[in-house]
Amino acid sequence: MTLDSPRADFADPGLHARGLYIGGDWLPGGGIPVTNPSTAEVLAEVPDASVEDAMRAVDAAEAAAAGWRATPPRQRAEILRRWFGLMTDHAEDLARLISLENGKALPDARGEVAYAAEFFRWYAEEAVRIPGEFRHAPSGAHHILVDHDPIGIAVLITPWNFPAAMATRKIGPALAAGCTVILKPASETPLTAYAMARLGAEAGVPPGVVNVLTTSQPGPVVSAMLADPRVRKLSFTGSTGVGRTLLAEAAKTVVSCSMELGGNAPFLVFDDADLDAALDGAMIAKMRNAGEACTAANRFYVQAGIHDAFVAGLTARMAALVVGAGTDAATQVGPMITTKAVTKIDRLVSQAVARGARVTTGGAPLPGSGYFYPPTVIENVPEDAEIAHEEIFGPVAPIYRFETEEQAIRLANATEYGLAAYVYSGDLSRALRVGKGIETGMVAINRGLMSDPAAPFGGAKQSGLGREGGVTGILEFMEPKYFAVNF
Ligand code: NAP
Repeated sequence: MTLDSPRADFADPGLHARGLYIGGDWLPGGGIPVTNPSTAEVLAEVPDASVEDAMRAVDAAEAAAAGWRATPPRQRAEILRRWFGLMTDHAEDLARLISLENGKALPDARGEVAYAAEFFRWYAEEAVRIPGEFRHAPSGAHHILVDHDPIGIAVLITPWNFPAAMATRKIGPALAAGCTVILKPASETPLTAYAMARLGAEAGVPPGVVNVLTTSQPGPVVSAMLADPRVRKLSFTGSTGVGRTLLAEAAKTVVSCSMELGGNAPFLVFDDADLDAALDGAMIAKMRNAGEACTAANRFYVQAGIHDAFVAGLTARMAALVVGAGTDAATQVGPMITTKAVTKIDRLVSQAVARGARVTTGGAPLPGSGYFYPPTVIENVPEDAEIAHEEIFGPVAPIYRFETEEQAIRLANATEYGLAAYVYSGDLSRALRVGKGIETGMVAINRGLMSDPAAPFGGAKQSGLGREGGVTGILEFMEPKYFAVNF
C-alpha cells in the first residue's frame, strides 16, 4: 500500500502533505523513500533537501523572526492552543500515519499523539508566563533587572521513535519563547512532521515561523545551518554518537545546544516491592513503543528474594503479547524500525546467551517481510555482557540479580548514560534514597512511566544537556539579558 492508494482511507487526505515546507510554501520533490516497517513496502517519497534548500529555510526563518518575536505572547499562546486542538481533532489520522511509517502498534501511536499534542497545550500556557527577575545588588550600588529574549533561529533535529512528540516537545517551547524554527525530522518518519506542519498552518502559524525539511545528507545540511550566524540554537534528540558530533560542530560558531541523547535505564526491584505492581510497571517501562524509547528499561536489577518470581511473571506477560503489523487492531507489539535494528538486537541477545544467559521467552528474529523481533526475557545475564552497556532499543528484558542496596546503586550507575531510572520498593524512604544515589536526570518511583509535558525531561552524564518540557523547557529557547539599573 502507498499513501496514495485507495486503501489509505484517512479522514483528511490533506494530512498526506509532503514537500519541503519553507516560508509557508510546499516545494514538491522526491528522493527519500519512506518504508512501512510492518511490510517493508514503500509508502511514499519525500524530497531530499540540499544545502541550498536549507539556506532558503534559514532565510525564511529570518524573514519571519522579527514579526513572530513581536507577536504578543497571548497571540502566540492562542495559535499553539489551536494547534493542540487540531492535533486532537485529527488524532486518529495522525496515529495511523505514525503507525504506518514507524510501525508502532496503534495504541502506542494514539498515546503518542495525545502526549505530543499536550506539549502545545502546555506551552500555550507557558507562553504567557515568561519569567523575569528583579533584585537589589548586594553592594547597594544598583538594581538588577533580568529579562528573557527569544534566543533566535533554532534548528530542531528529531529521531524516528516518537515522530510527533519529539517535534512538539521542541516546537512548542520554541514558538512560545518567540523563536522561529527549522525542523529536520528523521528520514524514516518524515510524514508525521509534514502532516503536523499542515495543521500548524491551519492553526495560524505564520509562514516561515516553522519550516520543515528532509534530507539524505543530514551532516552537510545541518553543518551549513549551524555555520550561519543567524542560527543561534540547536535542539537535538537522537543518539549520543550523533549528539557528540553535533556538539563539536556547534562549537565552531558557539551555538547554544540542548541535547536529548541515548539512555540505558536501570529498573530496580527490591524484595519489599509489590510484585504485581512491579510487573505492571516493568511492562510499561520496557514495552511502550516495543522498547524503542530512550527511557525504556534496559537493565532489570531484581533483589534475590523476589528474583525468581519476577522472572516467571515477566516471562508470562511478555510471552502473552500479540506481535503484528502496527495498524492491525489486535497488535500490541509492532515491528522494529529497520532490519538493521533487528540485526543489532539479535547480536546483543546471541552474545549474552553465548556468555551464559538463559532465554525464558523469545530470543530470535521472527520470519516474514516486516522487521519483527519478539518480546524476549533473558536471565542470568553476566554484568559485563555487551547488552548491559548498550542501548537495546527493542523488546528485550535482560534480568540481573542483586543482593544489597549499595550493590544495586553501583550497578545502576555503571554506565556512561544517565537519562532515566525506575525503582520499585514498598519503603518510600528507601526508594527515594536509592533514587538520590542514581546518577540520572529522572527517576520513576513505583511507576513505569515518567514522561509528562509538565516535567523537566532530560539526562545527566552522556544522556544529554538541558531539559525539555516543564517550566524550564522554554528557557532553553531564551537568552537572559541583565540590565544594571540606577534608579
Ligand atoms: P540518530 O541516528 O542519532 O538520528 C537522530 C536524528 O539525527 C535524525 O533526524 C538523523 O537524521 C539526524 N542525524 C544523523 N546524523 C546526523 C548528522 N551527522 N548531523 C546532523 N543530524 C544527523 O538517532 P535515531 O536512531 O534516530 O534515534 C534513536 C536514538 O535517539 C536513541 O539513542 C534514543 O535513546 C535517542 N532518543 C533520545 C531521547 C531523549 O529524549 N533523550 C528521545 C528519543 C530518542 P537521519 O534520520 O536522516 O539519519
